[in-house]
Amino acid sequence: MSSLDRLQDDTTRWGKLGCVNVDPPRPLTTRERATLDLLLSPDFPGAEELRSQVSSAVVVGRCDCGCPTIDFQVDAAAPPARVPWRLAPSELETLPTGGEPPDQVMLFVEDGRLSCLEYVAFDQRPAQWPDPRSMRVVGP
Ligand SMILES: [Zn+2]
Repeated sequence: MSSLDRLQDDTTRWGKLGCVNVDPPRPLTTRERATLDLLLSPDFPGAEELRSQVSSAVVVGRCDCGCPTIDFQVDAAAPPARVPWRLAPSELETLPTGGEPPDQVMLFVEDGRLSCLEYVAFDQRPAQWPDPRSMRVVGP
């Protein structure tokens, strides 16, 4: 496959670049779970359904750049959040250190189901999710 074909294939499958399959799917780590719980702690329409999906969520993909970004699959029986958006209205950001802009954590939802927890770094991407105590919830 040419690199362009591969690029298009990845873009179609993941909607973004640089994701690789985690096969077989694995359960969430304690840190991933805590990060997701923190992000879903505010109340917003659909939050309850998304929270209820966390217990059945497994990790089916990860970013190949070495950052902690992961893709989820949830139990097909879990009730979907009936929401029009793909990007959850709450997100996390790292607490300020020095004068640098914070890193952010964003949650993507596909068809009302947990889809991707993405780490967006200002500078260096960490290899692990930071301690949730070093992050705060922003929004909705
Ligand atoms: Zn990455």
